Amino acid sequence: MPRAGINPKLDTRNSKPKRLVPLLLAWFSQNARDLPWRRTRDPYAIWVSEIMLQQTQVKTVLPYWNRWMRELPTIRSLANASPERIHKLWEGLGYYTRVRNMQRAARVIVEKRGGRFPEKFDDVLALPGVGRYTAGAICSIAFNQPAAALDGNVIRVLTRIFGVSNSPREKQTNALLWQLAESLVSNSQLTTRNPKYCCSYLNQSLMELGALVCTPRRPDCRSCPVSRFCLAFRQDRVEEFPNLGKRAAPTSRRFAAFIVENKAGCSFANDRPASSTRIFGNFLTSN
Ligand code: SF4
Repeated sequence: MPRAGINPKLDTRNSKPKRLVPLLLAWFSQNARDLPWRRTRDPYAIWVSEIMLQQTQVKTVLPYWNRWMRELPTIRSLANASPERIHKLWEGLGYYTRVRNMQRAARVIVEKRGGRFPEKFDDVLALPGVGRYTAGAICSIAFNQPAAALDGNVIRVLTRIFGVSNSPREKQTNALLWQLAESLVSNSQLTTRNPKYCCSYLNQSLMELGALVCTPRRPDCRSCPVSRFCLAFRQDRVEEFPNLGKRAAPTSRRFAAFIVENKAGCSFANDRPASSTRIFGNFLTSN
């Protein structure tokens, strides 16, 4: 009995993932952008890029990543840096919890592992600020392990190729998408092409395809390496995937701010420490 909203021909054990893998790898070898974090297998450098890329575009991240790696080139240097310094290096990227968690994780790695980045998926996942996607990305890209990495781009690509019409936010559908991503990355190990990099390149090919070709609007299906296997394209239903449902209505929020000024016109302000766990860490606040 097929599950509602899921292409009935879809089975994560069927031959489709196997046939997609060589096409994706060949396309990636020809079309991958030359990004500095792709020239290394240092898990620290890859971790920094993955955290910076959350909610942020590649072109914005590039100068930040370059500067960060110049100034804090090792896990130990991040662990020892002052919170103010790392905050300064992050300034402009937003979502500061990310960088505070990175420093917490770096300190855990230094204290418990002598500064060596963990290689086991579960150990990576246990680090502060590291979720299933980031752990999968690090383990596959840095260590070539068959760990899936399912982000928004990959979800879009997979729902279109396999015709997954239920919302990827639903638990069952999300689990299915992880299975598909796992099946693809595992199948990459069967290829003789680049066995040292197969899992790394396969995951990155899905991310890159989602970023460059299978874009949210007007994907370039004519130049897509997997169009002949793509259910959405073959049925001319590309716009239907992924099914993200209706956006929640925006809630209006009100904020009040004030400046304390004495009779001489001097205002009173001080720096809230960057290490503050509150949302206004490192903001100027009145005394
Ligand atoms: Fe995306 Fe089009 Fe390629 Fe299908 S054929 S994966 S919709 S770009």
